[in-house]
Amino acid sequence: MIIQVGHLNGEVRTYNLADQSTASELMNVLNSELACEVQLVQSGELVNASSILAGDRIYYVTVDAEGGKKKKKKKKNFAKPKKKKHRHRKVKLATLKLYNVDNKGVVQRSHKQCPQCPQGVYMAKHFDRHYCGTCHQTFRMDEATIKANLEAIKKQQAAKAAAAAAAAPAGGAADKGAAGGKKGKKK
Ligand SMILES: [Zn+2]
Repeated sequence: MIIQVGHLNGEVRTYNLADQSTASELMNVLNSELACEVQLVQSGELVNASSILAGDRIYYVTVDAEGGKKKKKKKKNFAKPKKKKHRHRKVKLATLKLYNVDNKGVVQRSHKQCPQCPQGVYMAKHFDRHYCGTCHQTFRMDEATIKANLEAIKKQQAAKAAAAAAAAPAGGAADKGAAGGKKGKKK
């Protein structure tokens, strides 16, 4: 039985196979001839490997081409939880915190002034350093002050945690309202 096969380059070749040959037998011949896995198409449909070939038709060679497939991304496993992004919090009239006026009307400056910048530039107070936001000058505080500040911060945090713990079991509408109000302010 002569089988006509249309190749990828448009050429039609004939193959002499035994009568009642199946498509898989023709595919085996083509596989070894072309050195790749082929499939057969006939009248627009893939030919089942077990179907018996018909001599009056042309079978077309097609190759399963890899392409267009996106490589699956490996899922990343993060060991540490995501870092919280620092959000700037607006403090109303923040400059008021830079000065203290006592009852005699004497002004005291509570923040260090930057020696490199013009008058009126105050340095941020961190627990271990003074920092100028204008020229980035940084002064480290002495160890005793740092220690004292750290302890103060710890005390503040402990007080906050205690307050939160005290508020949590109370629950109720009042608590919910407070939480809602906070959320509203953030936006
Ligand atoms: Zn400065």
